[in-house]
Amino acid sequence: MSNIIKEILKHLPEDKICDVVFEGANIVLYTKDREFLFDNGYVIKEVVDIFKKRIELRPDPSITVPHENAEKIIKTIIPEEAGVTQILFDKDRSRVIIEAEKPGLAIGKQGSLLRDIKMQTFWVPHIRRSPPIRSKLLENIRSVLYQKSEYRRKFLDKVGHRIYDGWIREKKHEWVRVTYLGSGRHVGRSCIFLQTPESRVLLDCGVDVAANDQEAYPFLDAPEFDIQQLDAVILSHAHLDHCGLIPYLYKFGYKGPVYCTAPTRDVAALLTLDFIKIMKSDGRDPIYETDDVKEMVMHTIPLGYEEVTDVTPDVRITLYNAGHNLGSSMVHLHIGNGLHNILYTGDMKFGRTNLLDPAVIDFPRLETLMIESTYGGKDNDQPPREEVEAVFVTKIKETLERRGRVLIPVLGVGRAQEIMMILESLIKRGDLEKMPIYIDGMVWDVTAIHSAYPEFLNSNVRKLIFHKNENPFLSDVFKEVGSQKERMQILEEKGPCVILATSGMMTGGPCVEYFKELAQSKRNTLIIVSYQSEGTLGRRLQRGDKEIIFPKGPNKSEVVNVEMEIVTLEGLSGHSSRKQLMAFVHKCEPRPKRVLINHGEVSRCLDFASSIHKSTGIETSCPRNLDAVRLK
Ligand SMILES: [Zn+2]
Repeated sequence: MSNIIKEILKHLPEDKICDVVFEGANIVLYTKDREFLFDNGYVIKEVVDIFKKRIELRPDPSITVPHENAEKIIKTIIPEEAGVTQILFDKDRSRVIIEAEKPGLAIGKQGSLLRDIKMQTFWVPHIRRSPPIRSKLLENIRSVLYQKSEYRRKFLDKVGHRIYDGWIREKKHEWVRVTYLGSGRHVGRSCIFLQTPESRVLLDCGVDVAANDQEAYPFLDAPEFDIQQLDAVILSHAHLDHCGLIPYLYKFGYKGPVYCTAPTRDVAALLTLDFIKIMKSDGRDPIYETDDVKEMVMHTIPLGYEEVTDVTPDVRITLYNAGHNLGSSMVHLHIGNGLHNILYTGDMKFGRTNLLDPAVIDFPRLETLMIESTYGGKDNDQPPREEVEAVFVTKIKETLERRGRVLIPVLGVGRAQEIMMILESLIKRGDLEKMPIYIDGMVWDVTAIHSAYPEFLNSNVRKLIFHKNENPFLSDVFKEVGSQKERMQILEEKGPCVILATSGMMTGGPCVEYFKELAQSKRNTLIIVSYQSEGTLGRRLQRGDKEIIFPKGPNKSEVVNVEMEIVTLEGLSGHSSRKQLMAFVHKCEPRPKRVLINHGEVSRCLDFASSIHKSTGIETSCPRNLDAVRLK
């Protein structure tokens, strides 16, 4: 038994607690004593005050009311207006997850209904918002979490033991070191390996979807990296260049946790499942299978913003809003009880968007800042949003006037929903004529996840969803497209429309299918709103390539002549502009002593580094892949 548990038990009446387990860094006490559960004086509160940990008292699974009865009782307690859509029992942890359309009504005044449920069923209720847009995929993800309740209980307990059972490695000196396994002077395959004498932690593990096989994956063969020794993965946000290789870690024997926000977990599962599909449709062997994605979901420990959690005996993390896409986080790492503090920004937007609040700039302590530099070059400033949005509207109007169609490649998560917000409000205000906006495949599922987690959106959108019942994503201008047949129908109809489709850099996916059909007419327009990597179809079109050759089976190819208008709009990006990046470094509290720059093309990384140094005097560097940097 862990020392901390022994100590806690000393403060509790011996006969009341039948089991104590960890759930990650949290501690759960189980009791079979119904009275003690509801009336234990202040014993539990006192223990929490002494140990300063999240400690929860729960009914032992053996005293819970059987599922069927419990479900009946729950349905009589929660009013019908709450719109309960699903009740899932997490049986080995005595938790019941109740999905409701109006969570507030299901919770009751000051949680009164939750108390009633607990008292009558001995299940601990957790209310979740049911997504207003149904998504089969999202339902599957949620059920994976509760199907293997026993495994999950054991897994969370094991994670807790790693955190609390003391050091497993020898400590001769104190040091902190990071190795760039990917994203060094490069956009794509983000992966940074953090080591201390005790801990082995990965920050992101992505793929570069635009690169050839050799350069697509991080350097997991670096000598210091051993998958068997890995303690934790921390995922900043759900984009394939950050999460795309995590299922692969499970395929090769990793059994530890992934920490990220709940929407990041859900979207990462969607993206990686879609990635398998894309690999298959390209005739390649997928590098992992659906089961590996399930493993990732099952091993994910969701965290809220600014929730402090230990992940190993000497690493404590906190996620902060990064403003980049839904649930995106900057990771703050507090190492060795104050030895060193790092902020890893992941991808970050220091500016308000239609969907999200800007990235946070206040931190408890900070010595090393690890920052992205996608738009870090001197010439990477972006025009103000209003200006960009005005051009966006003009381009759409011009296209519609010449009876053409607009195609917008999107990453699926982030830009797509941002563009949906803009289009919806333009149509509502009457600035744009009403026409169908087609949302292809996965984008629709991701949109469903957006409306399931309004608490991660900015206050404007939240207000629309919570107070006015005007969820912009539910507008009838949006039409879901799910199959090849529906895609062909849209192309045959030839009416004016806007199509949002993946992939964001046109490296595959339905967007390329639409492009092949729409490219050959002058009437149509392609609007590029997100970053395009070197070598991708998107980048080639930006450069003005007029003849694109697609392979079509062995020894055959298809030539597409590009007649459509190609427009690039920089200011709608989910990344900070050069000015915003500089402002972030200047305003960051406390000021870091060192800045490491990654996630940018070589010239942009170097340019950003030298500008920071010139204006602040802070030591900067741009590690290359496989470079290791000692931070302390
Ligand atoms: Zn990103």
